[in-house]
Amino acid sequence: MDLRHIPDNPYLLLTPGPLSTSKRVRAALFRDWCTWDDDYNGIVQLVRASLARLATEEAASDISAVLMQGSGTFSVEATIGTAVPEHGVLLVLANGAYGRRIAQIAARLHLNHLLLESPETAPPDPERLRQTLAANPAISHVAVVHCETTTGMLNPVAAIGEIVKEYGKVFIVDAMSSFGGLPMTLDAIHADFLISSANKCIQGIPGFGFVLARRAALEACAGQARSLSLDLHSQWKEMEDKGGKWRYTSPTHAVRAFAEALAELEDEGGVPARHARYVENQRLLVEGMAGLGFTPLLARPLQSPVITAFLSPTHPTYDFRRFYDLLKARGYVIYPGKVSDADTFRIGTIGHVFSDDVLGLLAAVSASMYWQM
Ligand SMILES: *Cc1c(COP(=O)(O)O)cnc(C)c1O
Repeated sequence: MDLRHIPDNPYLLLTPGPLSTSKRVRAALFRDWCTWDDDYNGIVQLVRASLARLATEEAASDISAVLMQGSGTFSVEATIGTAVPEHGVLLVLANGAYGRRIAQIAARLHLNHLLLESPETAPPDPERLRQTLAANPAISHVAVVHCETTTGMLNPVAAIGEIVKEYGKVFIVDAMSSFGGLPMTLDAIHADFLISSANKCIQGIPGFGFVLARRAALEACAGQARSLSLDLHSQWKEMEDKGGKWRYTSPTHAVRAFAEALAELEDEGGVPARHARYVENQRLLVEGMAGLGFTPLLARPLQSPVITAFLSPTHPTYDFRRFYDLLKARGYVIYPGKVSDADTFRIGTIGHVFSDDVLGLLAAVSASMYWQM
């Protein structure tokens, strides 16, 4: 392979991001935009308003969207590094790699923080949260992941948010792999900040993340950021005051494609319809995989429709890489496991993926089980 001969063997991404996008979304990339021109900034404002509408039930709401360059983690870091004040204390609830990453960000930024970990196959315990909040009145902020992509577990964010609000703390939710794919509003989960990215359930292409927040919560962050480029408050102010302008070069093509992805989501029937499609994809997947002898890691009630972790076959010749390569040759890309105390692999059911694709994958899995042949 060289720069002039890059192979083009298209495959369907069954991963937690970036994920498969439609031709319609990709076609929206085929032109250039000026980063500070009114046409382009108008698209940014449409996107921000559309995101705010998805995140709330009320028409005129106090929720505002901030877009941020980089992958999803950059938006998590921007939020944590801007929202928690110098003398604040962040409590992180973690039951997987993405929860632990929030604590890692806090440590790197030298923020006062506490980590409350639970096993990767169990949801955070509301009673322990209550006890921790009661015992540590200095806690000012609580952060948790909604869909923990490590396992595919759906954490009970609404119940957690209720306790966080009972104690009067600011609530930050990493809804990276769930926003747009599961019905949710900031009010319903009691969130002050909700973080997601362009290339997850909205089905755009990678290049930026976004934060949905209450205006009052954003206002309260002025001057607190530990980073210049990841200053969420300054980015918000610029977008608010200058009609959709970003600080520094914005990912113009990715934003234009994202606007198309939002229109596509509307045309599909909105979040409820998309959610129903993901649920059906995941149901077909688990049913079909069970027929082939695969067991999901999580108990059914904990499982999201986003991504499913399956226990790896215990056969001595099973090797993930070989299985992966056989599936890839058949046009499907899956994901390695990330759970620390179980050998798993993961299959995503989000993105521009439909029942027929899942059935196609199941046929490919059946044909790729070399350890049984
Ligand atoms: C994908 C994801 C992220 C962000 O990952 P990036 O690789 O930085 O885009 C963060 N949290 C969760 C739960 C995710 O699924």
